[in-house]
Amino acid sequence: MSEMLPVDRALSIILEAAPVLPSEQVGLDDALGRFLQEEIRADHDFPAFDKSLMDGYAVIASDTGRGLGPLRVAQEIPAGMDPAKLRPVVPGAASRIMTGAPIPPGADAVLIVEETEMVEGDPQAVRPKSAVRPGASVARRGADVRAGEILLRAGEFIGPGEIGVLAACGRTRVATGGRPRIAIIATGDELVEPDRAPGPGQIRNSNGPVLRALALRAGAVARYLGIALDDEDGLRRMIEDGLRDDVLVLSGGVSMGTHDLVGNTLRSLGAEIRFERVAIKPGKPFTFGRRGSTLVFGCPGNPVSTYVIFQVFARAALRRMMGSRDPAPAPVRGVLTNPVRQHPGRAGYYQARATWTGRGYEIEALPSSGSADFVSCARGNSLAIIPADVASLPAGSSVEALLLDDFIDR
Ligand code: AMP
Ligand code: MG
Repeated sequence: MSEMLPVDRALSIILEAAPVLPSEQVGLDDALGRFLQEEIRADHDFPAFDKSLMDGYAVIASDTGRGLGPLRVAQEIPAGMDPAKLRPVVPGAASRIMTGAPIPPGADAVLIVEETEMVEGDPQAVRPKSAVRPGASVARRGADVRAGEILLRAGEFIGPGEIGVLAACGRTRVATGGRPRIAIIATGDELVEPDRAPGPGQIRNSNGPVLRALALRAGAVARYLGIALDDEDGLRRMIEDGLRDDVLVLSGGVSMGTHDLVGNTLRSLGAEIRFERVAIKPGKPFTFGRRGSTLVFGCPGNPVSTYVIFQVFARAALRRMMGSRDPAPAPVRGVLTNPVRQHPGRAGYYQARATWTGRGYEIEALPSSGSADFVSCARGNSLAIIPADVASLPAGSSVEALLLDDFIDR
């Protein structure tokens, strides 16, 4: 029997084996959820011209103040006005200006409209109700970002905020990492697809849809191949098909039973098996291998094991392939709200509910009947990590937790 690897060791073997996919130029609409593969610099100053941050009047600051006379309104300046059309603001004058509009020459501040009043019978005059300091409500050219400044780096995740930066810089095409193609196989004679009623001794295949969902969430392109029965020929044909993709993920058939054929079938097809057991609970009989540039994850069939193995290991590999700078899972620290016990020897990755309290995370380990309790995966939003050498942690202990992809949603 092969050696049982610590989680960190298994993870580094996987990340070393994961090839970074060639980058591809994609349109802005396809960039969300990918990893940037180039550096993005500001293509101009932001803002590109001195602009008003408020609706009000562009003034000379020293012209404003209680008791000073009304100002002549020289011009109305809406957002979008060509700065070439601006009239200078001279002493005793002001221009009505809108948020985002260019500041006219001569003016050095914007007095907000709430701090002004109209002059009876003179629509071309405005009276300041208070004084402003020079620079008030004005954003100077380049105040936010200078042309040429580095805004995004290669390897960064592209979320909605990054989309905004790309759009503002006119980057409608951008180099990003590729999306891995991932083939999914569920193995087991007992399985029927979810649209069928299980017969005696049968169960519905939940891992297939779960793996597909996890793969999509991670940014991969998923191809579900179906259920492979626990016989060599069928399994072999399906694995051969799956090995054509960047990643092959299987569930089931990796334990010690006489019907657990995944490891040997992979070997017979030329895959190099890098390990078959990891010191993790749930998920110990987890097989990882590689054939050519294709990574193979053989997850234990127990639903919680499959879920945890994907979240901890497969997702990291996908992120590396997609060009992430830090593909490894990054746990947060929180306070455990209930005691946890385990048999030492394997690191526990338990379904948990993390809650942000305003000062930190509270981590509640969820009750579970074990690795077959698929409902716990739906109740949790995180995995509480209990180190392998720890037998029990009392409530109130500091604990690490891996916030899952859909942490916010649940
Ligand atoms: P195995 O790893 O093949 O020994 O399976 C371990 C346990 O997980 C067994 O109780 C299986 O019935 C169950 N199981 C295997 N594959 C699936 C699946 N695709 N969906 C739900 N349960 C499964
Ligand atoms: Mg099985």
